[in-house]
Amino acid sequence: MIYLDHNATTPVDPAVAEKMAWFLREHFGNPSSIYPIGRKVKELMNEARERVAASLGVDRGEIFFTGSGTESDNFAIFGTFDAAPEKNEFVTSTIEHPAVIEAAKVLEKRGGKVAYLPVDEYGTVSLDDLRSALTPKTGLVSIMHANNEIGTIQPIAEIVRIAHERDIPVHTDAVQSFGKIDVDARKLGVDFLTVSAHKIYGPKGIGALYIRRGATICPFLRGGRQERGLRAGTENTAGIIGFGEAVRVLEEKGRKELARVEKLAEALKKGIEEKIPGARFNGHPANRVKGTLNFSFPGLEAEAILLALATKEIYVSTGSACSEESEEVSHVLQAIGLPPEIARSSIRMSLGRSNTDNDVAVVLRELPEIIKKLRAITAFHPEG
Ligand code: PLP
Repeated sequence: MIYLDHNATTPVDPAVAEKMAWFLREHFGNPSSIYPIGRKVKELMNEARERVAASLGVDRGEIFFTGSGTESDNFAIFGTFDAAPEKNEFVTSTIEHPAVIEAAKVLEKRGGKVAYLPVDEYGTVSLDDLRSALTPKTGLVSIMHANNEIGTIQPIAEIVRIAHERDIPVHTDAVQSFGKIDVDARKLGVDFLTVSAHKIYGPKGIGALYIRRGATICPFLRGGRQERGLRAGTENTAGIIGFGEAVRVLEEKGRKELARVEKLAEALKKGIEEKIPGARFNGHPANRVKGTLNFSFPGLEAEAILLALATKEIYVSTGSACSEESEEVSHVLQAIGLPPEIARSSIRMSLGRSNTDNDVAVVLRELPEIIKKLRAITAFHPEG
């Protein structure tokens, strides 16, 4: 199989699986218990917390484990607005993940005001638009670091500078940038930052929210004192241990592995552009996470391409995993100005650790053939 959907999820690294299996066998204690078997789990959890913190350039005490990237996004948004209800205006973008967009809609239903910043044809927000959207009632700005469908990277440090001049806190969803480019929360200057383990070869169902020391936020789940009272509920201890190990492996592999994947993606991009006339690349040519490739094949339906590739055991996606089951047209591709019929002809290939030179060669052999055949069928049946 050729797996080209690493933005949806990544295969669990063998070292992560091994460490989690060891942990589940050997350590069942509740980290809140004060006797040794509980304290040992707490200690292992803190090692993982330290790893995640160090990789984001922050302190251990600023990392709060959650149940997912989605939960971290919701935590940052609702936690901030609950803490200062009088500041009920939210500034975000049109290309955010549903975890942010749907939370924004809830704020609107509760009487809040939301400004959805548009993006240009490459998927970048404008700093001038940001400036004009901010008001004395803005309680939070949330702009994603890298987009999951097209990979475009936003100018987060500049966004923070503009918002902080007006004392407005900033959250960024770094789920798709973490592990692909440098993500240093301190350098970015953000107040809140979301990450998720299953996008970096860790387990599913475990995420983290960086909360800058001193930032104002309300607890997300209420109950016990876990996660220093901000996220109650007995921790997903094995998930946390797995997350820490995934970060360790990430750092061990380092830049060299990222460069290998980026090179493969560049070769695939170039090959598609050379071999498939009419293929349209979506996203920023340079300022994006390089392993994410989004192409439109005008005149065709993405589902048909996806299914034809799947018969060859090549797995790609039509964009966000969350919209996979719906007929909806990608809000991201519409936001960069694609008409619905072109958006519907688009597939995303996201490369990662599991890919090889041979994968790229096979895709460059199969995909042009598939497109050619589908175009012939579509031309034969003009109603498409
Ligand atoms: N944010 C972005 C940008 C994502 O791509 C995803 C996952 O697709 C999420 C948030 C949600 O993360 P999780 O699957 O851990 O809930």
